[in-house]
Amino acid sequence: MKLTRRQVAPALIGLTLKADQPLKGGFALEAQDRGHQIRDRAATPATKRTIRIPAVIVGGGISGLSAAWWFRRARFTDFVLLEMESETGGNARAGENEITPFPWAAHYLPLPANDSIYVRLLCEEFGLLKDGVWDERWLCHSPQERLFLHGRWQEGIEPHIGLTKEDAAQFDRFFSRVAELRHSGAFTLPMDPGLRRSKPAHLALDRLTLSGWMRKEGLYSPYLRWLVDYSTRDDYATGADAVSAWAGLHYFAARDSEEHGPLTWPEGNAWIARRLTQTVSSHIRTGAMVSRVERTGSFWRVHAGDTLYETDYVIWAAPTWLARWTVSPPPRALPMESAPWLVANLTMSRWPAEKGLPPAWDNVIYGSPALGYVVATHQSLKTHIPRTVWTYYWAMSQGAALDQRRILLGGDWRYWCERIFADLQRAHPDIRSCVERIDIFRIGHAMPRPAPGFLTHPDRLALLKPSNNLAFANTDLSGLSLFEEAQYRGVEAARAALSTLGR
Ligand SMILES: Cc1cc2nc3c(=O)[nH]c(=O)nc-3n(C[C@H](O)[C@H](O)[C@H](O)COP(=O)(O)OP(=O)(O)OC[C@H]3O[C@@H](n4cnc5c(N)ncnc54)[C@H](O)[C@@H]3O)c2cc1C
Repeated sequence: MKLTRRQVAPALIGLTLKADQPLKGGFALEAQDRGHQIRDRAATPATKRTIRIPAVIVGGGISGLSAAWWFRRARFTDFVLLEMESETGGNARAGENEITPFPWAAHYLPLPANDSIYVRLLCEEFGLLKDGVWDERWLCHSPQERLFLHGRWQEGIEPHIGLTKEDAAQFDRFFSRVAELRHSGAFTLPMDPGLRRSKPAHLALDRLTLSGWMRKEGLYSPYLRWLVDYSTRDDYATGADAVSAWAGLHYFAARDSEEHGPLTWPEGNAWIARRLTQTVSSHIRTGAMVSRVERTGSFWRVHAGDTLYETDYVIWAAPTWLARWTVSPPPRALPMESAPWLVANLTMSRWPAEKGLPPAWDNVIYGSPALGYVVATHQSLKTHIPRTVWTYYWAMSQGAALDQRRILLGGDWRYWCERIFADLQRAHPDIRSCVERIDIFRIGHAMPRPAPGFLTHPDRLALLKPSNNLAFANTDLSGLSLFEEAQYRGVEAARAALSTLGR
C-alpha cells in the first residue's frame, strides 16, 4: 500500500515514543452533582436581588440560544438567558488542546433541505451559505466515511464486503422503501411540516419497532440489520429492536440521498453555538442554575442562585424531563427514557498503522458496541499532521437507560479507557502506543429514546403547546435529538412568546 504524506511522518514519530509512557487524562465536564442538587431539592441560596424582566430563557444549548437569536432578529431585547454551566452550548460544546479544537458531543449539521427554513436563515447569517453556494471550507472533505469490516477498511458506512446477492437485493429493497417515504413529503427536518403532510399509514409506523417493521418487510440481511441498528444508535441512542419504526425510517427518509454535506468544523457544532452566543451575549448569564420556577399570580418566579427573576414568560430550553423537578405546578412527564452517552477525546501522539483506506472523517467498526470515531483535524488543509485528536462516541443503547447510566457512572476512568482500547484494537492493533491522553465526558441524560408510541403520545403533544406563558423548547420534545429540531423548537417557542407578549 502506498502511504499518504499524512501517514509517513506519524509512523516515524511513533518510533521515538517511549512504550511505558503513562496515559494521561480523566473525566471532563462532570455535572452530575449539580443535576442531583435539583433532583434532591437541595436548599437554594437566599435571594439577594430580584430582577423584573418580561422573558426568561432557561438553558443555553442550541434550543435556548436559538430562542434568543430569534428574539434578537425580532428586535426584542427584554429577556435574559440563564445557563447553569460556565459556558453555553450544551451538547454542542467543544474543547481544545495544543493540536486542535475538538467537539464534546454534536459535530455536524446536514445541509438543510427546503423545509429547514430557520437553518437556512442561520447559515446565511453566519456566511455558510452565500448566494446559494455553500462555503467549501466547512463542507466535509473526502474521504468522509469508512467501515472496518472483515479485517479491513472499506469506503462508506454501508457494508459492501462479503455480501451475498440476497443481501444486496435486500439493501435495494430497503432503500426503495425509504425513497417512497422520502417522496411522500411526510419525513422532514424539522419534523413538523412533514407530520402535517402525513397519511395514517405513515403515523402507523410509530406503532411498531424498526426491527418489527423489517421483519414484516422480509428484510433480514445481517448487514442491513447492522446498518439500521448502527444508524438509530447513532442518532437516537436506541437500537433497532427498541426504536419506533417511524423514527428509524425518518433517519433515512428525511435526508436527501444526494446530499453534498454535511457541514462540519474541528470544534463540531460549537462553531455554531459560539456564533449564536456572540449575537446575544449581553443577555446571557452563565453559572446560573435554575432551581425553581413557580407560577405566582399572573407571572413566573425563576430562582437562579441568589437571584430571583420575576417574568411574564418562561421558555424552558433545558432538558424537558428536568422540569418535573423544577417547575411548579409540575408539567406532564416527557414520555421517553433519557439515554446516557460516553464521548471520549483521544489525543494521539501518532496515527496508527493502517490497512486499506486512509483515515476518513467518520470511522466505524462493524459489530462494535460503540459508534467509532471522528477525526478533529479532518478539515485541516495542512499536508503534514503528525498528531491529531479522535472524538470517540458510545451511545449506551442496550437495556434500560437507568441501568446503563449506573454502568456509565460506576466505571472509573481506567475502566473506560480499557473498554475504548479493547474496541479500537480490533481495527488498530497498535492503538495503545498511539494515544497519549484520553478525556472522557459522561453524559448521564444525553438524549431521548423515541420508542414506539412517542410520536402521538398525549403527554408529548401537551408539552408541545405553550400554556400559562410557559413554552418548552428543548430538542428532546421532538424525540429526535438533532440540531434542526433544537433550533426549530427554540425559534417556535420564541415566536409564541413574542405573540403572547404582544411584540
Ligand atoms: C453525544 C452526542 C452527539 C450528538 N451529535 C450531534 C450531531 O453531530 N449533530 C446534531 O445535529 N445533533 C447531535 N446531537 C444532538 C444534540 O443534542 C442537539 O443537536 C442539540 O445540540 C441539543 O440542544 P438543546 O438546546 O435542545 O439541548 P442541550 O444541548 O441539552 O442544552 C440544554 C442546556 O440547558 C442547560 N441546563 C440544564 N439544566 C439547567 C438549569 N437547571 N438551569 C440552567 N441551565 C440548565 C444545560 O447546561 C445545557 O446547556 C448529539 C447529542 C449527543 C449527546
